[in-house]
Amino acid sequence: MNLTYLDNNATTMVAPEVLEAMLPFLQNEYGNPSSMYSFAAVAARAMENARARIADLLGASPEEIIFTGCGTESDSTAILAALESRPEKRHFITTRVEHSAVIAMGRLLQQRGYKVTWLDVDKKGRLDLEAYKAALDDNTALVSMMYANNETGVIFPIREAAELAKTRGILFHTDAVQAVGKIPLDLKTLPVDYLALSGHKLHAPKGIGVLYVRRGSPYRSFLIGGHQEHGRRAGTENVPSIVALGKAAELAAKHIQDENTTVRALRDKLQQGLLAAIPEAVVNGDTENRLPNTLNIAFKYVEGEAILLLLDQEGICASSGSACTSGSLEPSHVLRAMGVPFTYAHGSVRLSLSRYTTEAEIDKTITALSRIIARLREISPFRNMTDGAEALCSSAGTAEGLSHR
Ligand code: PLP
Repeated sequence: MNLTYLDNNATTMVAPEVLEAMLPFLQNEYGNPSSMYSFAAVAARAMENARARIADLLGASPEEIIFTGCGTESDSTAILAALESRPEKRHFITTRVEHSAVIAMGRLLQQRGYKVTWLDVDKKGRLDLEAYKAALDDNTALVSMMYANNETGVIFPIREAAELAKTRGILFHTDAVQAVGKIPLDLKTLPVDYLALSGHKLHAPKGIGVLYVRRGSPYRSFLIGGHQEHGRRAGTENVPSIVALGKAAELAAKHIQDENTTVRALRDKLQQGLLAAIPEAVVNGDTENRLPNTLNIAFKYVEGEAILLLLDQEGICASSGSACTSGSLEPSHVLRAMGVPFTYAHGSVRLSLSRYTTEAEIDKTITALSRIIARLREISPFRNMTDGAEALCSSAGTAEGLSHR
């Protein structure tokens, strides 16, 4: 059975060119980039070339790029380093819909006595800029706000938010793990201090990330030891994966138009096809300001996990809007924060495309999902539920429902 992979916000296929670029560094070019001899200089040069490619993609300078082990490490490091630089300020602002990497950090900070403001989103997952403005105060050390949401694809107004922080001398971090490579982003004009990205979301392997730190913004390394990364992250560099990420960044820059034309058109075709074929289906999240590859769609009266199992039987990979962290299938913290009604939240599915997605795969998915939803609705225990029973808790303050993808 052919695989139809529509879970590219969870992870992506390593691009063939990326694999080709990294292979020599897993085979013959195994020198340690910190060594003095010319054999190792090959690895060091390849690493610096990769750094320059990533800087190009982001509109940054190479010395502002630090290689890390993943997006999560980049997020944690940025937040802790920023807060440590302003010990007298004890207020941290973030949103209720961040990835678990940032949510968990916010909870830890609360335990450590920080005041944490969790900004709400509206029904479409949009940020309330007025509430954000009102939250900024003289005690605020840092704002951490994701560029685009991993579940719904909703894009936040990072430029405005970062500018507002900057005018008050407040540091600003953005988790751009889902945005980089999908939408154009230029750090020359985007006044953020820190930005996190992750290789495996843009066709590089898992286990490689980047932390961008603007020149002059406070920073300190938490991994101490060797002088790698100019003393900003100790530990021998993962050269093959760094080379891979450099190649992936080069390809992302080349394909960014396709993401916003071809991939967007396929995603829109999928959305329209599903809405036309399946009654009582709604799109979760703002369709105006959304990543071009992401569709989060809710089917009333059915269980997302059941949809995924049946899709899997047809070779189609997708994600649901639930997370079974506690054994119970709680709707995700993102859908809860948006106040998506119970009977919809449970039947939510995330379909995320890539430049490798084909039209035939979209057609196949529309047909398969239409059949699956009809079949599940026939046996649905939720069918007699009235709209009055649809109350949903809207707090993101519990561990349940935190998604990790
Ligand atoms: N932030 C966002 C928005 C993500 O979607 C993810 C991964 O799903 C991460 C952070 C974590 O990245 P990594 O898996 O590289 O730690």
